[in-house]
Amino acid sequence: MTATLTLALSKGRILQQTLPLLHRAGILPAAKLTSGRKLVFETALPHLRLVVMRGADVPTYVRQGAADMGIVGKDMLLEQGSEGMYEPLDLGIARCRLMTAAPLGWQPDGRRIRVATKFPAVARRFFAERGIHADVIKLYGAMELAPLMQLADMILDIVDTGNTLRANGMQPVDLVAEVSSRLVVNRATMRSRHDVIQELVMALSKALCEA
Ligand code: AMP
Repeated sequence: MTATLTLALSKGRILQQTLPLLHRAGILPAAKLTSGRKLVFETALPHLRLVVMRGADVPTYVRQGAADMGIVGKDMLLEQGSEGMYEPLDLGIARCRLMTAAPLGWQPDGRRIRVATKFPAVARRFFAERGIHADVIKLYGAMELAPLMQLADMILDIVDTGNTLRANGMQPVDLVAEVSSRLVVNRATMRSRHDVIQELVMALSKALCEA
């Protein structure tokens, strides 16, 4: 019997945009993915099941081989690293940008910059590469609050329309990275189940072209 492969999906915004893609690729879940408390779903394909989880957890599951494949934002891969995974496909969905941003009129004054972010590794790398001393402050939500409350000078965050920044008197400063969702595959699975994975990558690529 062929072992079942597991595809880990990031819930929320990415999941909403993944569903039509899965549908076009013929990956039909046995139950609705976005309602109820169920986390694991069989599909119409006998050797594929889906699991739904926080995007931040997808790289861990795929790296460890607890899931064979995943769909996850590039922001998470930049933050957590892609060790142990291949990234064969850019799905082009949930597009946004990682940017630094500061209050309108803010000027660096030569002291160390305090940067609030959900992406501390990305922020450390970004400022270190530019020779800027930055004290990185890890937060979990509403980055825009940090400069308003004098906790930080700048933020490094996801920007889509820029409305959230504008609503809080801030403006984007530098582009850190363009972000979209990627298909990732566990390295060992890629070797041991190459044919099945290849078939799935092809089906998803075709579904992307039809979008
Ligand atoms: P906006 O006001 O359109 O610039 O959206 C900013 C906020 O929306 C960000 O702080 C994120 O929390 C969220 N957001 C927008 N696009 C994405 C995305 N593709 N992935 C994850 N979060 C996003």
